[in-house]
Amino acid sequence: MALSDALRRKRSGSSASVAPEVADAQDSLEQRIRAHMAKGRVTVTLTDNRYTMISVRRVPKERRYEVRLHHMFADADPVITRALAHYIAENDAEASGILGDFIDGNSGHVRGRARRQPAQVIYTAGEFHDLRRVYDELNAKYFANKIDAVITWGQKNGRPRRRNSIKMGSYAVEDRLIRIHRSLDREFVPRFFVAWIVFHEMLHQVHDIRVKNGRREFHSKEFMADEAQFAQFAEAKRWERSHLDALLTY
Ligand SMILES: [Zn+2]
Repeated sequence: MALSDALRRKRSGSSASVAPEVADAQDSLEQRIRAHMAKGRVTVTLTDNRYTMISVRRVPKERRYEVRLHHMFADADPVITRALAHYIAENDAEASGILGDFIDGNSGHVRGRARRQPAQVIYTAGEFHDLRRVYDELNAKYFANKIDAVITWGQKNGRPRRRNSIKMGSYAVEDRLIRIHRSLDREFVPRFFVAWIVFHEMLHQVHDIRVKNGRREFHSKEFMADEAQFAQFAEAKRWERSHLDALLTY
């Protein structure tokens, strides 16, 4: 069960690998946000994500908040850190408006926004499956949290019909964007199957696409060997075979 070199390299990279100045910026921002909060513990990770400027994971039982914030927030003034605190802890609508204006005013800082592409709308919470959760778990379990991608459900589309094929997942290299087909956000689709599709797309960030005999090779031998490391690989394959019709009818 040898992992390919690419995956091993991803895994063995230093574990707490943030630069000291980034760690300081994160700590400082954490403290400034916490100062506006009655209770609760906040951990801040600064990111360079192009689409998701703020994402919050709430662990209500422990009053714990894990927040991923774009670097534009590193030097935020007290008005903004207070809005962050209210948004994080209470999902406060007014705070959300303040933060929206701040993000609009700072979009020049967002890497790649110069291309003026329309901001992608990211939907991670589906009706039945939360992609962010699935992605985070896989990232921790298989990739030592080294994958840096945005994940979203694809667009909803028209009336259900039987299709000849669907693209269950895709990965756009430039945008680091994983898109998962809405067909998978249904009650009969088990979580491990969604996770398998997400895992496959995450692997595309690990394995560069090589050119072989003049053709781009998306799934190299090494890629497929890593894919088979997924704990429920055989089960997922089996499930797919026996539910293909249902999956294609969407
Ligand atoms: Zn693929």
